[in-house]
This record gives sequence, structure tokens and C-alpha cells, in this order.
Amino acid sequence: MIAHLVNTDVGNRGILRVYIDYRRRNFNFLEEAAELFLNNIERVLLITGFPIPPSMRAETDGPPGALAIWKAVERLGGRAEILTYPEVREALKPFGASFVENPNIDDYTLVLAVETPGRAENGKYYSMSGIEVTRRAFDYAIIEARRMGIPTLAIGDGGNEAGMGNVRDIVRRHVPKGRLIASVVEADVLVTAGVSNWGAYGLLAQVSLLVGENLLQGWREGDVVRALASSGLIDGVLKRALPSVDGISLAVNEGMVELLKRIVDDSIQVME
Ligand code: MG
Ligand code: MG
Repeated sequence: MIAHLVNTDVGNRGILRVYIDYRRRNFNFLEEAAELFLNNIERVLLITGFPIPPSMRAETDGPPGALAIWKAVERLGGRAEILTYPEVREALKPFGASFVENPNIDDYTLVLAVETPGRAENGKYYSMSGIEVTRRAFDYAIIEARRMGIPTLAIGDGGNEAGMGNVRDIVRRHVPKGRLIASVVEADVLVTAGVSNWGAYGLLAQVSLLVGENLLQGWREGDVVRALASSGLIDGVLKRALPSVDGISLAVNEGMVELLKRIVDDSIQVME
């Protein structure tokens, strides 16, 4: 149910068809993601940040989700560090997160990607509209982790993100420019979402049901998105530093978080 909710294609960007085919193939992907996450939180490397052409500034989708996951890992007794672009680091610093610049992948028990470029078949990185992303990418962390047998998890909403390699055939079929932009970078478990931040919140909602504690409690979507926009991160669809995500208003993003919070509270109450 949570998977269905966070895959609502409010922005009409084509993820609904990808999600439906992916869900048919792997009905329990969110449950699997929640279990993989919870079993490997000792030391988590989070990678996030998606540069948007032509300015190549990072967008407001991804970093909020990564921050929420960072907080949840710490609350559950694990440690997490975020590998991202300098402007995202600056924007997230006031929220107390920890960062790493040159991670030794071997040190981690889980590598988790939230909305960050994943290389396409030709080795290049692309925006949804098929323009090349020319800044450095962090998908190597997922690739290296898989080579080393370290668990990997990825969240994406378009097809061009690290981890969407799991469904590249579906992306090619349903996403405009899918043949060009589809990432080939695979993760052990992939979570799709209408907006990648929602995928992160959905994952935390699902984990909350496993631990009997609402990990979204205290998450203030408005405060985080507004702070990121005022420090210069841009809406990836509108391409301007506005407090919105993927062209979707802050009110809708806040509404999604509130709904997830309530669903988790209700479910935990029923379990008690
Ligand atoms: Mg995306
Ligand atoms: Mg997005």
C-alpha cells in the first residue's frame, strides 16, 4: 500500500507505467528494501544529488530524502554519512548530517542511492530530457559495493538514476528518451517513486512498521525544502531555486509526508 502511494505520478512524468510493470515483477520491493535497510544499518553510505542541465546545479529532489534516511539510521543506532555535491553539503549542514568526501567503500555495511545520476549504456549520464550531465557522479559507490558484496539499495523516479538499471528494459519501453537515458547501474533492491524523496519517506514508513516506531515523526518537509531552495538548490523541473520538488508544490509534498506519518501511526496503534 505504501509503495502504491509513493508511486503516485502527480507530475505525470511516466513513472506510473514503470512502477506498474516493476511491481508485477517484484510485488514486495518495498518490504524487501525495508528489510535490507534494517539488517545493514551499522554503517551506511548515502549518495545523493542530481545536477540539472544547463546550470548543473543540484536539485531539491534527493537531498531531503537522504537527510531523512540519515536521521533514521542514527535514531536506530547505526551511523550514516552522505556523499554529495558541495552545494548540497552546504545546504544540508544546518540539519546536522555527517558527510564524507572520499569514502572507502569497504568500510560500509550498506550503500544507498537517493536520486543521483546512474550511467547509461554508453557510459554517459543524462537528464530526463536527454541532455548530458557533465559533473562528476557517485554511482561508482554502488558499482564498487556490488563488486565487494556489500548490500546496495537505490531510489529513483525517472530511469536515469543509479539503481534504475534493475528495470532498464521497462524504462526503455515507457519513458520518453528511455533508450538513451536508462541507467545500467543495478542495486540489490530498487525503490521507485513519483518523486525520489517520497521513495525515501516510503522506505522509512515501511521500516517504521517493522520497528514499531514512527521514523517520520518530527520530519518537517516544508522547513527542509525551503532551506534547500534558499541556499540555491533548484526544482529539477522548473529549473529555478523555488521551494518545490520536481515541479510539484510544497503543499503536495508536505501532504504526502503527513499522509505517510498518519498511516504509520494508525498501523502501529493497530499492532499494539
Ligand atoms: Mg529523477
Ligand atoms: Mg525527482
